[in-house]
Amino acid sequence: MKGLIFSVKRYSIHDGPGIRVTFFMKGCPLSCWWCHNPEGISPDPEPFGEIHKIGDREFHKPAEAGRYYSVSEVMRILEKDRVFINESKGGVTFSGGEPLLQYEFLSETLKECRSQGYHTAVDTSGYSSPESYLMIIPTTRLFLFDIKHLDDLKHVECTGVSNARILDNFRLILDSGTDTYVRIPVIPGYNDDEDHLERIRNFLTENRSENLKKINLLPFHRVGQSKYERLGIPYKLSAIKPPSKERMSYLKEYFSETGIKVKVGG
Ligand code: SF4
Repeated sequence: MKGLIFSVKRYSIHDGPGIRVTFFMKGCPLSCWWCHNPEGISPDPEPFGEIHKIGDREFHKPAEAGRYYSVSEVMRILEKDRVFINESKGGVTFSGGEPLLQYEFLSETLKECRSQGYHTAVDTSGYSSPESYLMIIPTTRLFLFDIKHLDDLKHVECTGVSNARILDNFRLILDSGTDTYVRIPVIPGYNDDEDHLERIRNFLTENRSENLKKINLLPFHRVGQSKYERLGIPYKLSAIKPPSKERMSYLKEYFSETGIKVKVGG
C-alpha cells in the first residue's frame, strides 16, 4: 500500500520544543480560498515547477508535487530523526491536504508509528466519513481540527463543502477522549465579524471537554499566493490584509473566555 505525499518537513510545533516530522498528504475535498498549500488539493501528482533566483535572474526548474511512499519508506524517514524526536519529546504529524482522504494508508502508517513508540498527530479539515475517523482514533494521540465557519452557506461558499459532517466529526472525536486542538483560521471579512465570533465562542464553550486542550487562532496570511500563480489558478484573496497583531491579541483574550487555552499561531 502506498500514500501520495507532497511534502515532508521537520517542524517544531504544537507548543514546546518537540521536533515533529510532518508528512503533507496530497488531496483535499475542500478548496478553501485562503489555502496556502494549493498544490495539496488535487489527489493526483501534478506539475509544480520550482523557481530559483540567482542574482537578478530567475530560473524555472520542472518539478512535480506528489510522490508515492510506502509505509516502510515513511518509517525510514522517521528513523533518521528518531534521536531528535525522542530527546525533544516530539513526534510525527500527518497533514495535507486532507490526510483522511487516504485513510487506509494513514491508518496503516499510524499503527506502525505507534508500534514504534512515536507520538502521532493528525491535522484534519474534519471532512471525511465517521468510519474513517473511528479507524484512526485508536492510533492518534492528538487531533488538530479545523473549524472555519459555523454558517453552512458561508462555509460552502468559501470551502466548497457543507460544515455539517465536520461538526459531527468534531463531536465524535471529542467524545472519543482523544486530545484535540481546534484550529480557527482568522480570515478578515469571512469569519471575523462580531456575530460569528460570538457564535463560535459559544459553540466551543458548549463543547468544552477535558480533552479539548487548546484553541489555535491562525491569522490569515498570503504566503501561498505565489503558488497559485505557479499552478495557473486564480487567487481570490489578494485584496485581503492579514489581521494586525493587536487584533489577534484581542481575539486571544476573547476566546480565552471559553475557559480553553488559546494560542495565536499553530
Ligand atoms: S482544508 Fe486545508 S488543505 Fe484543504 S483546501 Fe482547506 S486549507 Fe487547503
